[in-house]
Amino acid sequence: MKLKFFKSALLACSIPVTAQIALGQNTIDQVRAHVETARTAAGNDHAFIFGRLCEGPIKLVKAAPVTGEVPGALASTDPKRDWYAEPARVFDDLFFLGQTAFSVWGLRTSAGIILVDSIFDYSVEAEVIEGLRKLGIDPAEIKYVIISHAHGDHSGGAGILQQRGAKIVMSAADWDLYAGTKDKVKATRDIVATDGMEIKLGDSKVHVYLTPGHTHGTISTVLPVHEKGQPHVAALWGGTLFNFKGTPDDPLDQRLKDYAASAVHFQQVTQAAGADILLSNHTAYDGTTIKLPAMAQRKPGDPNPYIIGKDAVHRYLKVAEECAVAARLAEAVSPSN
Ligand SMILES: [Zn+2]
Repeated sequence: MKLKFFKSALLACSIPVTAQIALGQNTIDQVRAHVETARTAAGNDHAFIFGRLCEGPIKLVKAAPVTGEVPGALASTDPKRDWYAEPARVFDDLFFLGQTAFSVWGLRTSAGIILVDSIFDYSVEAEVIEGLRKLGIDPAEIKYVIISHAHGDHSGGAGILQQRGAKIVMSAADWDLYAGTKDKVKATRDIVATDGMEIKLGDSKVHVYLTPGHTHGTISTVLPVHEKGQPHVAALWGGTLFNFKGTPDDPLDQRLKDYAASAVHFQQVTQAAGADILLSNHTAYDGTTIKLPAMAQRKPGDPNPYIIGKDAVHRYLKVAEECAVAARLAEAVSPSN
């Protein structure tokens, strides 16, 4: 009887006392304002990140739903393995080596290749190693692998690539996080990334920035690339979703505060670098699911769909910032939601 009462009391506690009441009108107005700023920043081209990151606040304040193009996963080119995607050249010196939903980007310099991310332990050989061979490139050219963050969809193949001679770059916090992952082959602690660190290889300089939020040690990257010989700059936001729960040792409020501050930091460095290309390590966020098939149909003289311009790069990161602020305001006063 006592237990039954306890259970029903617990159940009652877990039912949101309608967030509207818990928040207070002033906070609701603030959340709504940040959602609308994010919506404006998203425009028609960044609807996917807006829809995912602002999902909670939108529901909470009953804001208008997301409109615009929301892409699915990249179509598989192999029905036997529904994750398999073909490798593709995206710029003169940048290659897509990922699978249907997760990306690996390879920058080919005059002295070898720098990868961003290593996808899973089960897919890295088929996509990255064999992918490079399909493109006519020796996988022994891989010199560095920058791991955006230590979740299995990005760090799972790191051990296999290290065994092949590549140096693995992770932040200190995510080397610690990586220690707890269970991949077939584990990388040993290698290069520890610091904010603004330059990774120079041949004629290329890649810069990494510490952008904690998605994990405590998420790295975002700025890469120089070339389109028909012309220089461009790509920005890669290293961790996107708010897929974390608050704990007493790791409060949600601080995570969201860090995330928003990181988005501001990366806006500043990418603007200073003149970034006009936005890349993600998930194929839906940067429109790879649409852009890669479009690249294959490109005629001579057609623009490269990945070159979106400085303003659009800035707007993408603004969505990340504003949705984090909105989510933090909502959570700060109503942590049960
Ligand atoms: Zn992740």
